[in-house]
Amino acid sequence: MKKLVLFFLWVFVSLTGSEFLPAQDLAHYKRVVKELSSARYQGRGYARDGANKAGRYLQKEFTRAGADKVTLQPFTLDINTFPGRMKLSVDGQKLIPGVDFTMREYSPGVRGTFPLYYIDTLHYDSEKIFRDLELPENKGAFVVCDFMFSYRHRADFKRLQSRDGAPNAGLLFTWEEPLKFYKAYGEKVGEKPIIWVPYRFPKDARTVTADIENRFLDDYECFNVIAKVEGERHDSCYVFTAHYDHLGNLGRRVYYPGANDNASGTAAIVTLAAHYAKNRPPYDMYFIAFSGEDANLRGSTWFAEHPVVPLEQIRYLFNLDMIGDNNPVAYCEVSAEGMWGFERLEEINAGAGHFQALNRGELAANSDHYPFAVRHVPCIFLENKMGDAFPYYHTVHDNWRNAVFDSYEPLFRLVTDFIEQYQ
Ligand SMILES: [Zn+2]
Repeated sequence: MKKLVLFFLWVFVSLTGSEFLPAQDLAHYKRVVKELSSARYQGRGYARDGANKAGRYLQKEFTRAGADKVTLQPFTLDINTFPGRMKLSVDGQKLIPGVDFTMREYSPGVRGTFPLYYIDTLHYDSEKIFRDLELPENKGAFVVCDFMFSYRHRADFKRLQSRDGAPNAGLLFTWEEPLKFYKAYGEKVGEKPIIWVPYRFPKDARTVTADIENRFLDDYECFNVIAKVEGERHDSCYVFTAHYDHLGNLGRRVYYPGANDNASGTAAIVTLAAHYAKNRPPYDMYFIAFSGEDANLRGSTWFAEHPVVPLEQIRYLFNLDMIGDNNPVAYCEVSAEGMWGFERLEEINAGAGHFQALNRGELAANSDHYPFAVRHVPCIFLENKMGDAFPYYHTVHDNWRNAVFDSYEPLFRLVTDFIEQYQ
C-alpha cells in the first residue's frame, strides 16, 4: 500500500514538475498558432476585420492564461487593402492570386484589357522606351520588367509609375517565387497599378486582362492587446512582445495565414503569460500583442509613444517575431542598452545548449523591438529563420500545414532561464 502511495506521489510529482511543463506548453502553443492562422481571421488584415477579430481572441486567451489584467490599446492607421475582386489573365489564361501574381501593397485597383510592352533589359534605352510607349499599339500598355533590374533605373521607373510621367497603364514586375506580398508602404495608394508575377511569366504574351479591386481604409481603428501578470515587485518590469497582425487578403478567396509570421511569436507570449501566471514572477510582466507590424511597425510605434508603463522601468524587453522554424542557430538584434542582456543570454545558452548559437545581426527597423531600441530600452529581437519555414515567408504558404515547431521550446527555456537567473 505504502509503495502504491509512493508510486502515485511519484506520478503526481512527475506530472506537475517542471519537466512536464514544456510539453504542455507546446500543445497550448500549437493550438494558438493553429487558431490564429485559420480562415476565421483571414490573414489578420484590416478590410475583413481579421486583425481585430484575432485581437479579441487574444484578449480572451490571455485572460484564460491567468493574466491579472488585459487591456486593449486602440490606434488608427491608413491602409490599402485587397478584399474584393482579384482576377488577372494573360492572353486569356487565368492566373492564380498569390501563386501566379500578387499586388504591390500600394497599388490601386484596375479593370480592363491592356497590351503588354516588354522592356529590353539587354539593350536598355530609356528614351526609346518612352518613345515606344507613345505609339498607338502601345497606348495604355502594361510595362513588363524584371523587378531587380528596375532598381537600377529608379528614375525611369518612377516616371513609369506616375500618371504624368508616361502613358502606360501600369507595371508588371517579374520576381522570384514563391511570390511575396508586403504591406510596409500600404499607407498610401500609388497612381498606377503594380503587379508582381514570377520569372516564368510568358516572355511574349500580347495582353493582360485585369479585374482587381482595392479598398483604401482611412483612419482604420485597430488595437494592441496588453496583458499584465503581477510580480512581487512593481517598480520595474519585463516585457514580452509579438505582433499578431499579418497581410490579410489578396482577393476574396486568398489570404495570408501567417503561421510563422507571426502566429508563432504571439502564441509563444500567450504561453509565457500562462507560465508566469502560474509561477509568480519577481517583477511585473507585460505581454503585448501588437497590431500593425506588417503595416510598418504601427502598433509598437504607437505603444512606444504612449506606453502604459514608463519605458525607463523596463528591465528587459523580448520581441518574438517568426520563431516557428528549425534552424539550430537563433537570430537576434539587440539595442545598445540591451547588450548586457545579450551577453548573459549567450552565457545561459552556452551552458544549457538551447541553440547551437545566438547569431546577432545589425539593429534594423524590421520588427517591433525597433521603436523601443531607438528609445534606449534594453531589448532583444529573437527570431528563428533560414530553416524549413523560411521559404514561405510572406507567401500564401505560410500556413498551419507548413508550420514548424522546433524552436519554440529552446526559446521558451532560454528566456525563462534568463528571468530566473537575473532577477
Ligand atoms: Zn511580416
